[in-house]
Amino acid sequence: MLFTLVVLFYCVKASGQVKPRESLDPSVTEVWDLEPPKVSPGKSEGQPPSDAQVLFAGDLSQWTTLLGKVLAWEVKEGIMTVAKGAGSIKTKEVFGDVQLHVEWRTPLGASGGGQNQGNSGIFLQERYEVQVLDSYENKTYSNGQAGSIYKQAIPLVNASRKPGEWQVYDIIYTAPRFNESGRVITPAFITVVHNGVLIHNHFPIQGPTEYKGLPVYEPHGKASLMLQDHGEAVSYRNIWLRRL
Ligand code: MG
Repeated sequence: MLFTLVVLFYCVKASGQVKPRESLDPSVTEVWDLEPPKVSPGKSEGQPPSDAQVLFAGDLSQWTTLLGKVLAWEVKEGIMTVAKGAGSIKTKEVFGDVQLHVEWRTPLGASGGGQNQGNSGIFLQERYEVQVLDSYENKTYSNGQAGSIYKQAIPLVNASRKPGEWQVYDIIYTAPRFNESGRVITPAFITVVHNGVLIHNHFPIQGPTEYKGLPVYEPHGKASLMLQDHGEAVSYRNIWLRRL
């Protein structure tokens, strides 16, 4: 980075002085001595690249419950499903900035309507929810539909598939930064792609997800990824992330 800046400085300096741009040596602005690490992309679309940490591919060994409950979510053929009333689950490991891939499916035939139709949620750092819901043909408040940053941001578009079909979130998340006295220096930022469609572009999260009232940031460090038990048989598969 420093090298690039130095090169750019001299380039700008040079171009601002006597030499016309056409006469400049293009090799001066070429970077050869720094290379990005090589990563093998996933074998097919949505599969984890070589530097990903796979969080779920068929067993719950990397997950635990809140409040010491028994981990009772159902696992079958590479799919985990919320066991109603079993409680939310979270990763044993904690994370900061991540690229996250999650595949999810709301149940066929759910008919509770609104927030009671395929509700679950993906909580970054145990606090900030990207809503999971059947929003194919199921009206609810817009900042609570699938893909919303719950009660904070409406998705740019509704890219929902039908209940019973697998859907994908690809999320780029930057954790909030706090100073020593606990004040927010920069909020959390989130970008979300739903089934290949951008629905949030670097949205500044306002604070922890709240059902009632406005969010207020509380300082925190790295924290788990959490999946919500909202009392409905929502399923997940192929969950991986890359630490950024
Ligand atoms: Mg939810």
